[in-house]
Amino acid sequence: MSGLKEKIEKLQERFDEAIEGITDEKTLQEVRNLYLSRSRGSVSSLFGELKSLKPEEKPDAGKEINALKEHVQDKLQALQTQLHGPKVVEEMVDLTLPGEASYIGSPHPILIIQQEIENIFLSMGFSVEEGPEIETDYYNFEALNFPPHHPARDDWDTLYINDDFLLRTHTSPVQIRVMEKRKPPIRIITPGKVFRKESPDPTHLPMFYQVEGLVVDRGITFAHLKGTLESFLKVLFHEKTKVRFRPSFFPFTEPSAEVDIGCTVCNREDSACRVCGGGGWIELLGSGMVDPQVLKNVNIDPEEYSGFAFGLGIDRAAMFLYQIPDLRYFYENDLRFIRQFLQK
Ligand SMILES: [Zn+2]
Repeated sequence: MSGLKEKIEKLQERFDEAIEGITDEKTLQEVRNLYLSRSRGSVSSLFGELKSLKPEEKPDAGKEINALKEHVQDKLQALQTQLHGPKVVEEMVDLTLPGEASYIGSPHPILIIQQEIENIFLSMGFSVEEGPEIETDYYNFEALNFPPHHPARDDWDTLYINDDFLLRTHTSPVQIRVMEKRKPPIRIITPGKVFRKESPDPTHLPMFYQVEGLVVDRGITFAHLKGTLESFLKVLFHEKTKVRFRPSFFPFTEPSAEVDIGCTVCNREDSACRVCGGGGWIELLGSGMVDPQVLKNVNIDPEEYSGFAFGLGIDRAAMFLYQIPDLRYFYENDLRFIRQFLQK
């Protein structure tokens, strides 16, 4: 027994020396094999020597070998922890970290503005009407007072499907379709996609969104037109927004007016403003009193009824509301751009 006890003490001393200064996993594993390997490990082989002891000596000897084994295991585990940190920490979830943001869908900025515009007119008693994007020449031009060779057609140059069908250049055909079916009073807005033969640049696109409005009733005057549009623009932009009417020409209205608002970027105070060119005004709508001939085309008696109509580009309004310098950003589908408009 004394011989075995001595062996145990020496082995512990050797082990304690061997683990000093271990800084890498490989050496640690080698030492572990050397002492604890089931077949060849120094500690494991001590258990084999128990056989040669007297029966009464075996329990104490067994305890001492076990104590050495525990000592070796504890030291190796401590060293392992020192080298790598405790395993349990690696697997722990840190609940104090901020969560990963996940994006939910949101309406496109153009659609957000379209809905705002619709809500304003719905609150004024208008209804929202839609129509086909592929139109006939009659609805897109003739019924609106553009005879086949009228020079004003050049301003609305478009993309033809064939000789009879074209992509609508404005949502005005929807006005004609509604007036054919309904008798006054009519109060509608007609939002939707329209198409023009344009090369894309910061302020022009071959496809864009437009909303037009039409009111037909007895006794409608230019004062109704002015009041409606001023109220609309002050709600859409700001109650202090300046509104200006300028004489203009459209084949389907008489008299006609362009409607400008005071520049939303420089507030009419910067002569070097890039948005309004320093003039202080932004052209936003076309408008006018419905031409009597257009009413006759849909069998409404212009002696009894009158009306006004207007139209604006939704993209263009969104451009000024969000102060976006280039219309094309709206259609590039760059999520970094689109996500700025996420609704809360
Ligand atoms: Zn300006």
